[in-house]
Amino acid sequence: MGSDVRVRFAPSPTGHLHIGNVRTALLNWLFAKHSNGTFVLRIEDTDPERSKDEYIGLIYDDLRWMKLDWDEGPDVGGLYGPYRQSERFDIYRRYAKKLLDTGKAYHCYCTPDELDTMRKEALARNESANYPGTCRNLTDEQKAAFEKEGRKPVVRFRVPEGDVKFNDLVKGEIQFDTSNIGDFVIMRQEGIPMYNFAAVVDDHLMKISHVIRGDDHVSNTPRQILMFNALEVPLPQFAHIPMILGPDRQRLSKRHGATSLDEYRDNGYLAETLVNFLSLLSWSSQSGDEILSVERLIEEFDFGRVSKSAAVFNPDKLNWMNGQYIRNTETATLTKLVLPMFQQAGYDISNKERIHQIVTVLQEKVEFLEQMVGHAKIFFQDHISITDPEARAIIHKDSAQKVLWSFLRELRSIGQLDIDIFRDIMKHVQKETGIMGKDLWMPVRVALTGEIHGPELPSVISLLGKEQCEKFVQEIVGDYR
Ligand code: GLU
Repeated sequence: MGSDVRVRFAPSPTGHLHIGNVRTALLNWLFAKHSNGTFVLRIEDTDPERSKDEYIGLIYDDLRWMKLDWDEGPDVGGLYGPYRQSERFDIYRRYAKKLLDTGKAYHCYCTPDELDTMRKEALARNESANYPGTCRNLTDEQKAAFEKEGRKPVVRFRVPEGDVKFNDLVKGEIQFDTSNIGDFVIMRQEGIPMYNFAAVVDDHLMKISHVIRGDDHVSNTPRQILMFNALEVPLPQFAHIPMILGPDRQRLSKRHGATSLDEYRDNGYLAETLVNFLSLLSWSSQSGDEILSVERLIEEFDFGRVSKSAAVFNPDKLNWMNGQYIRNTETATLTKLVLPMFQQAGYDISNKERIHQIVTVLQEKVEFLEQMVGHAKIFFQDHISITDPEARAIIHKDSAQKVLWSFLRELRSIGQLDIDIFRDIMKHVQKETGIMGKDLWMPVRVALTGEIHGPELPSVISLLGKEQCEKFVQEIVGDYR
């Protein structure tokens, strides 16, 4: 390790990671690696209704898939555990007591109904709906009376007057006037901490040096700073990363397509692409380069080049980038990823050598691996059905029939088919029929694949083999004579 940089990724286990959370994890990880620091995984599972153990497993899977390894965390341990907040309730109670003992927090007995009434009345008077401090200075008698009524208190933080200022590593100086922050709850009745409080206690105890997170948390930061100060412990540095917007500049949501990491993984986006793409969503390399290996990302990352404004998620760029990575990835690696997709589509995957050849051909064409399933259909059909009207029109032409008859005769006359032999055959067909260009090639493509678009014809031919080609053309000329 060797540096004091300690950062944490602190997801709540409520499902697969959202793209925005993955980006937060990634930037924390890059900064940790860049600084030779420590990357901590902390699971914020204080909400028993929404947090589920199985979701923790999904978070591990997602991070592992991206190769964002953590140095400390619930599964690997570390000096500052436990790393699940649900196992730290005693710690939060102890810290809440500290604040209560020093008068920096107090018990509040107001019921939800009372709070609701107060809020409504304040709004009707056009006043702030913040907690008005009703229980701020209760006497021991008043407290005893409430207890006798059976009321269970929450713990509220006593917000001091004044300004809170901090220097955000991305956004620069940020200032809040605390008069806009009402005394807020830090512990619920059942002794369960609120997010802001638990995060402060943990960031302190886990010696977090930099809090790097989405800028939806900016408004939590003054509250957290007030609590660090009340506990008389040092502040971490803060870096708030701008949020991710869809192409229409609205907050990225389901409406814009896939938003959770597993959807990208399942569609055959590569982890390397997502690491590269998500890094560049909020940050840029001084070189202006767009394709950056993870080693370069680690080396070059710094907050000075993190953009202050919101990042726009451009799916076309993601697709372009994934296409680049697919072309630069070993075919064997891609084949492993594609096999289950082919299997699910019902394709015969028993001939691994053939699958490898198919992937070699399609690797040049696709932007994400799922697209290979559609393109590969032509290699797994037993006979050709032409449903596309444009393709039907092509095959109906007189010239097409001439081409296909000539092609068939040639096919029958040869022993076996490879790319060179195919080229010779086509030369011969052209000479014999006098037909050239599209009128020569398209009927052959349609007859062999049923489609008007697809991979390079010679590659298709060699993958189908002589027998299959002969059978398909025969069927077509038979059908359409
Ligand atoms: N559990 C919080 C979240 O997922 C963590 C925020 C933080 O990093 O402080 O948004």
